[in-house]
Amino acid sequence: MKAAAGPGFALRDVPPPVIRDNEVLIRVRRAGVCGTDVHIYDWDAWAQGRCHPPFTVGHEFAGDVVQVGHLVTDVRVDDRVTAEGHIVCGRCHLCRTGNAHVCPNTRIIGVDRDGCFADYIAMPATNVWQLDDAISYEIGGIHDPMGNAFHTALTNTEVPGSTVLVTGCGPIGIFAVGICRAAGASRIIASDVNPTRLALARAMGAHDAVTPQEAEGAVRAATGTLGVDVVLEMSGVPSAIHQAFALVRDGGRVQLLGIPAKPMELDLATEIIFKGITVYGVVGRRMYETWIQMTQFLRSGEFDPQPVITHRFPLERYDDAIAAIKSGSAGKVVFEVS
Ligand code: NAD
Ligand code: ZN
Repeated sequence: MKAAAGPGFALRDVPPPVIRDNEVLIRVRRAGVCGTDVHIYDWDAWAQGRCHPPFTVGHEFAGDVVQVGHLVTDVRVDDRVTAEGHIVCGRCHLCRTGNAHVCPNTRIIGVDRDGCFADYIAMPATNVWQLDDAISYEIGGIHDPMGNAFHTALTNTEVPGSTVLVTGCGPIGIFAVGICRAAGASRIIASDVNPTRLALARAMGAHDAVTPQEAEGAVRAATGTLGVDVVLEMSGVPSAIHQAFALVRDGGRVQLLGIPAKPMELDLATEIIFKGITVYGVVGRRMYETWIQMTQFLRSGEFDPQPVITHRFPLERYDDAIAAIKSGSAGKVVFEVS
């Protein structure tokens, strides 16, 4: 948990959360570790402004329901589940128009309230997502970042038959490569600066896995002077974002998931307007279209996220888990909680 304002995590004995009438208590089996957790671990400026220790960190998990509140009708004890970690109000303009992923009243588990790096977590029943018997707790535990990739790759992108450039092959970029492959992209070019991550992108089905310097050549080889139909920007690095706009074809689409560390300059006229492109900002997962897509793709067997998971640790080894992410070479890092 995050015991106090300052760097690092701590392991503490705390009582299990007390659930409200509309909530369920879940015994956590597997939990994914994410860049957000690294920000909280490091206690950077964002974490200092947002989080209020002491609290339990972690927002990606799967486990078993062990208790349900009085008002819960559709989740039962012993259900194997994961959950959408963004808790929205359900009542605002955006929630009521199918845009709950940008609800201004969103509270995130492991950031704004207690999360899942613990034996138990309380979740509103509305956020619970049932896992098929065939889906392991490990895969269940990474539905949150996989959902980021599904949201980015499949929202208005018309992937079948398309040429796709994925800039940034962190866990989410690598998931996206596999999703685009399963969705029938004709050519997937993935770029990253890290050779280990490029190898993972290749394993997930990238036709070309290249350095940023090689990306332009790969796009030219695949599309001539046209450019790719779709770019999924998954690095948040300014030079990659400029490259996304440079290598998308006129009239194409750029999906922005990566978050730049600070404001950056764009030439709107040449990078966006005169190219007639569409730019989509990705926040979280669409509720719950993304979750349905994710479940259907997993059921089809055409998309297998297993190769993305490269590191497993018991909860006590949180320092090693964070170090693995900071190394920049890991795929998905997972805690084996119980
Ligand atoms: P990550 O940091 O592991 O992945 C980023 C990758 O980009 C790294 O592998 C890095 O080597 C690579 N990279 C660096 N420079 C590059 C360049 N010039 N060209 C291509 N690749 C380059 O992160 P992740 O966990 O996979 O997440 C990806 C991004 O998405 C991060 O910026 C993260 O903050 C963001 N994110 C956004 C949301 C959202 O809802 N919008 C949710 C989760 C994560
Ligand atoms: Zn709302």
